[in-house]
Amino acid sequence: MSNWESNIRKVIPYTPGEQPDAKDMIKLNTNENPYPPSPKVTALLKSLDSDELRLYPDPKVQVLVDALAKRYEVKPSQVFVGVGSDDVLAMCYLTFFNSGKPILFPDITYSFYDVWANLYNIPFKDLPLDENLCIVKEDYYQDNGGVIFPNPNAPTGVETSLADIEDIVAHNPDVICIVDEAYIDFGCESAIPLIEKYDNLIVVQTFSKSRSMAGSRIGFAIGNERLIKYLNDVKYSFNSYTIDRVSMKLGAAAVEDEAYFQETNKKIIATRERTKERLEALGFEMPDSKSNFLFISHPKINAKKLLAALRERNIYVRYFDKPRIDNMLRVTIGTDEQMDCFLAFIKEYMEKENIC
Ligand code: PMP
Repeated sequence: MSNWESNIRKVIPYTPGEQPDAKDMIKLNTNENPYPPSPKVTALLKSLDSDELRLYPDPKVQVLVDALAKRYEVKPSQVFVGVGSDDVLAMCYLTFFNSGKPILFPDITYSFYDVWANLYNIPFKDLPLDENLCIVKEDYYQDNGGVIFPNPNAPTGVETSLADIEDIVAHNPDVICIVDEAYIDFGCESAIPLIEKYDNLIVVQTFSKSRSMAGSRIGFAIGNERLIKYLNDVKYSFNSYTIDRVSMKLGAAAVEDEAYFQETNKKIIATRERTKERLEALGFEMPDSKSNFLFISHPKINAKKLLAALRERNIYVRYFDKPRIDNMLRVTIGTDEQMDCFLAFIKEYMEKENIC
């Protein structure tokens, strides 16, 4: 028997949301946007030819970097692009969390954070959210190897104010603070303006939610030039050609269509508030959400049982079997029509189970 087993890196992987292919399903489980990408993206997609596949892409992703720099009013040297924000965040961990001290993040948060920490052997501490599912900023004043949290948080949807974010960044001048703004466009204020004041801050966003392009896998980080250079050095030591040619071009077209972006985000926010109101009328409880999902529970409903019943009707939502949140469901905001079907099923379920 050889001993190679003991030399292998063993990890417990992140479990991504299910991607079922059922006909007529209502898919509210992975926070995709129910609306298509900008019509300008679709038109461009139709005009592309097979040379986009034959040639290597631009390792600098310049067209997309330039479009993002213009949109967010920073220099191109302050923008890093990766294959979804998962890739950007994984590169950030590898680049910035290298001190040997524990990094800090909330106990209820994006469940990839501890997976990357374990993958790279980075120690971490998860700090409990308070009873309202809010970040306690004073907890982040302790000695650490870096800080990461989403704003708004996921899967709660709860916003941390820009003042509290600034406070956390200001209290941690010797480490890098990452604000993961995957859902920022659904009603929160971005921390991007703070990068001028704090050289230890990096902000990460994605095209997967507010730009309806989860399938293209585009994420980006904005920070000061030094941080972006270090990030690029690590990227070029890992894989030079990350974003493919098609995604780069489509991504740039999406960024340039600001009007469509604003319009779809507004629609989702309106549907979210309407859905929240109706769920509350049925006795559901949830924190205020600034994202494209609601994190719901009902004092008389078993979340796992409801999850299974919804699934039988081809309605998919997300459940996390974790302490403190194991009786909650995360429901992505779809179209008004999809949410009406979801709500109609919930009403029917409650009647059947005699819950009032
Ligand atoms: N951050 C958070 C908080 C998320 O919920 C997600 C979506 N799973 C991501 C990052 C990654 O998104 P993507 O890789 O699609 O950009």
